[in-house]
Amino acid sequence: MFKIEGTCDWCKKPSLLTRHEYIDGKSNYSCEDCYELATLDVRQFNIDETQERERLEAR
Ligand SMILES: [Zn+2]
Repeated sequence: MFKIEGTCDWCKKPSLLTRHEYIDGKSNYSCEDCYELATLDVRQFNIDETQERERLEAR
């Protein structure tokens, strides 16, 4: 799962990474240590973004 070599977007250390995709099409990469935090971050962003879209569409 952690197969991409690069710099973790959460702790900024070079490591083996996995990809997290955001609802708006962006993506970030996290190492194994940051995986749980990254998952929570991305999930929260996607929830916020979904709510924002619904709010805009409701106008
Ligand atoms: Zn990390």
